[in-house]
Amino acid sequence: RIPVVTLDGPGGVGKGTLGRMLAHDLGWHLLDSGAIYRALALAADRSGIAKDDEAGLVRLALELPLRFRGDGNQTLVLLHDEPVDEAIRTPQISALTSQIAVIPALRTALLQRQRDFARAPGLVADGRDMGTVVFPEAVLKVFLTASAEERGKRRLNQLMEQGISANLASVVAEIAERDARDQQRSVAPLRPAADARVLDTSAQTVVETYTVLQAWVKTALQE
Ligand code: C5P
Repeated sequence: RIPVVTLDGPGGVGKGTLGRMLAHDLGWHLLDSGAIYRALALAADRSGIAKDDEAGLVRLALELPLRFRGDGNQTLVLLHDEPVDEAIRTPQISALTSQIAVIPALRTALLQRQRDFARAPGLVADGRDMGTVVFPEAVLKVFLTASAEERGKRRLNQLMEQGISANLASVVAEIAERDARDQQRSVAPLRPAADARVLDTSAQTVVETYTVLQAWVKTALQE
């Protein structure tokens, strides 16, 4: 069986950064599941499919011409061969993403696409339900948390690095709204798997968190 490490948690907690570092160091594949949901939201928005058109969204999910280029440090999300990394991270698409992510049939339609990322030698999967739904057999399940304020700051820095301007209050509000929706939905709500290890990163630097994560991975792979 292909070893999988899952990293779940709310927005802006650092899953993406830590996932990239870990996949790079292990030489494993990386699944940014949020990017799949985001690309679907972008594609729906562009083709005028309404957020409550379940059948239309499911059809789109099944045919979505989405590819990821590169592993580890740098990834590029390609929709119809167009790089959409920036377009899928605007506040508008972020909000739309969490609105359509509540639809059970849509989540089911994306399940196999996500599982196909589990290829040798291994996979680091980041998202909301990687440990609870998509990869229940993962060798290590990590659930990251941090205060909303801290996550807002991290997300703001990330947006600024991408040249997207925003202010802290609106980013914190946007994240809090998405978290609430992700936690309250009926299918695959955001929560740690029963066998997940929970790590509060509020007062930790990326390097400190990564050190803990690496130690957990090492132990898990030895077992
Ligand atoms: O991780 P990211 O912020 O890119 O995820 C964007 C949104 O996609 C989340 O707020 C959530 O609504 C949805 N999502 C999900 N399940 C996942 C990953 C993301 O529902 N595994």
